[in-house]
This record gives sequence, C-alpha cells and structure tokens, in this order.
Amino acid sequence: MRIRIITFLLFISLIPGIATANGNRITKIVLDAGHGGKDAGAKGQFSLEKELTLAIVKRLGKMINDSMRGVQVIYTRTTDEYPTLPERHRIANEAKGDLFISVHINSSAMKKHRELVGYRTVKKGKKKVKQPIYKVTYNNVTTASGTESYVLALHRNYQKQNSIGEYGETVAEEPGLMDENDPMTAIIVAQYAQAFQERSIKIGTLIQNQFGYQGRLDHGVKQLPLEVLAGSAMPGVLVECGFINNPDEEVYMNSERGQYEIALAIYRGIKAYKYEVEGQ
Ligand SMILES: [Zn+2]
Repeated sequence: MRIRIITFLLFISLIPGIATANGNRITKIVLDAGHGGKDAGAKGQFSLEKELTLAIVKRLGKMINDSMRGVQVIYTRTTDEYPTLPERHRIANEAKGDLFISVHINSSAMKKHRELVGYRTVKKGKKKVKQPIYKVTYNNVTTASGTESYVLALHRNYQKQNSIGEYGETVAEEPGLMDENDPMTAIIVAQYAQAFQERSIKIGTLIQNQFGYQGRLDHGVKQLPLEVLAGSAMPGVLVECGFINNPDEEVYMNSERGQYEIALAIYRGIKAYKYEVEGQ
C-alpha cells in the first residue's frame, strides 16, 4: 500500500518542530489499538485481534494515567471503530505525541496439509494411469508463541533470519507494508530513521525485555517498512503481544491475568524509556 502524499507532507512538515517541541520530556503517549470496526485483524478460535488490542490498550492507558504523573494518554480509538491509518497518524501528530505505541496480536500463516487418501485410474491416450488422490486441508493452529516488536525501516535492512527463517511461521501479517521501490518510501523512511529510529529501537527493546522478564518468548525488535509507523512524527513501535492462533496464547490473552501482564510489560517498558530519555 502506498503511503498517501498528504500524510507524507504532514509528516515532513512536522519533523523540524518535533525535535524541539518537547525536548526530552515524555509528556504525551499515543496508544493505538490495532484494527477495529470492519477490520477484525487476526482471528482466533473464539476471539478477534481487534478486541484484544483494545482491551490491552485500555488497561495500559489506565496504568499510565494512574501511575505516570504528568503524562497524557491519547488514544487513536476507544471503541470498536476503524480509524484509517492516516486518521490514526493525524490524531497522533495533532496531539504532538512523544511516543507512539501500536498494539497488535500476531497470527502465523495458514498451513496447507496434503494427505494421500487413495488412487484413481485415468485414461491417458490408450494407457491407464494411476493417479494419487489428496485431501487438502488448511490448518491455522500454531505452536508459535511469544512477542515481538517492529520499528520502521526499509525491508532491506530487515534481518530475515530473525523472523521468517528462524521461527518458521513468525510473520507479521499486518496491513500497510510500504512499497520499497517507491522513491517516496525511501525518503520517508530515511527522514524517519534520522529523527526517530534510535529511540524507536530503544522503546522496542525495553518493552521486549519486560516480556522476557515475565517468561514470555522474546522474538526481539525487528524492522519493517510499516505504514502504521511511518506517518506519525515521533518514535514509535508496533508490539505483537502473542499468537491468537496458538490456543494457549489465545486463552492467555483473553484472560484477566494475561491482559494485565501484557499491559504491565508495555507500561514498564515505557517507564524505563521515559527514565532513559529524560535523563539524556
Ligand atoms: Zn494487527
């Protein structure tokens, strides 16, 4: 999906102001619950990504409001609605956020199973040929588990061995991968990298560390040209909180404890980030 020109112009025009707007103070945090409304996101056996992202974001927002003094939370959505990506960017940029946290739930790709169930004989010219009969089924249940975070970068910087290769099915199936052959993409990503990449990697790393401390599988911080991150003129990270098509993780992410722990990991990551950045 090509990023829209309007978003690009908005983005570029905001960069000079951002560096000096709030200095190193973290006073506004934008929380983006992935998907919503007509866009359900990934589907589990009994729940949807859009429901889990909203539940986690609400808990996280409450934690920040209750415990992080002087920090304002801005939500891109608080109900089951679907703001487009440019709308989410507009909310974040108009609020002049210091940090953009997009919460998502992972799902691995469908697996195709082919099972030999018998043979049939068919005529090929004068010959009779035996042909195998397969039953094809698709299985979307996975044993993949754990969390990962994404920051904005061009795909060619993206270390494939850290995701698709190593974990087999750990592939972000999020919307809005930017077209890397578009020169505009290169400009946007380069501008973004210069301004926000270091801090984006920092917040991603600090959140992932917290998941690790909780005993979750930590797949680390990866880089992708994700449009959801490109349009907001502030450091940002997309957090994949677990696999909805792993039955155990789906139950966990729907549980009170699971949602609390996930929100707490992100909260603690933000707190550590705030401490580090404000100390600089
Ligand atoms: Zn998602």
